[in-house]
Amino acid sequence: MNMKIIYSNNHSGHNPPYEIYERRLEPYIEKAERITSIVKALKEDKRMNFYSPNRFPLSHIYEIHQREYVAFLRNRSAQLEDTQTLYPSYFIMDTYTPITRKTYEAARSAVDVVLTGVRYIIEGERVVYALCRPPGHHADYKTMGGYCYFNNAAIAANYLSKNGRVAILDIDFHHGNGTQNAFYDRPDVLYVSIHADPHDKFPYNSGFTDEQGEGAGLGFNKNYPLPLGTTNEQYLCTLQKALRNVQTFNPNFLVISAGFDTYEKDPIGGFKLTIPFYEKIGMEISKLQIPTLIVQEGGYNIKDLGKIARSFLRGILD
Ligand SMILES: [Zn+2]
Repeated sequence: MNMKIIYSNNHSGHNPPYEIYERRLEPYIEKAERITSIVKALKEDKRMNFYSPNRFPLSHIYEIHQREYVAFLRNRSAQLEDTQTLYPSYFIMDTYTPITRKTYEAARSAVDVVLTGVRYIIEGERVVYALCRPPGHHADYKTMGGYCYFNNAAIAANYLSKNGRVAILDIDFHHGNGTQNAFYDRPDVLYVSIHADPHDKFPYNSGFTDEQGEGAGLGFNKNYPLPLGTTNEQYLCTLQKALRNVQTFNPNFLVISAGFDTYEKDPIGGFKLTIPFYEKIGMEISKLQIPTLIVQEGGYNIKDLGKIARSFLRGILD
């Protein structure tokens, strides 16, 4: 079986030099080279076919993000000189999400990448990988944060929800606060997340087990926080619970927020997952036999990121 991979080089214009980490200027860790590493590794596998994204109207973004917020990102990006970087203000939740001149275009292009993937899924493709950068799951209605500007997975799930029930499984190391909030009161989109205990790790104020949805959405939000040092075996046990939640919900579509910062050598992670184990994760997900859109989120070990992505996608395909 072949796999469609949606990819655009527009992400590379978004390349802030620094983030502010514990009040120090540190080299920016969400680098363009992350994606280069993945593309290089996947091009060695003949089953992986690369496609360019189409452009989609802003209306898709407006259903998930405030208009003023989108205008802020577009206008502030455009006002910056090539060498300028903008740090926190009203729309920015943290010090990891600076804006540069090409940030808006890169974020918009990541949305086009994911929506092009959605189109293929609606047309009947069984699995598509949307190679998004910048990532999205921390981006909230009117706040950027955690390297995220537009919530690619939420925008995709929202579009898919017009065609059926959608489950989102978020396996990034960090809790997807933005995605959770987007669907917190909706019963037609299930959000299930496995992530580091927010007592210890970003985003610190969401991702706890008692966050289960509200109103009509009550019971359609599931969080599985895990301790630092979590091993393959411990992770597998939780993954199987999460997949049972998805199966019980019986969705027409599955969106995977695929972060690879759960890897044992990730510079900002804290779990102990190994490269071959990502194939196992992929196999477990593919057993569900649901049309699946994989959306790239975090993962910061540039040297091994391609190997992790390849291992995961092989598990999905085999
Ligand atoms: Zn992450």
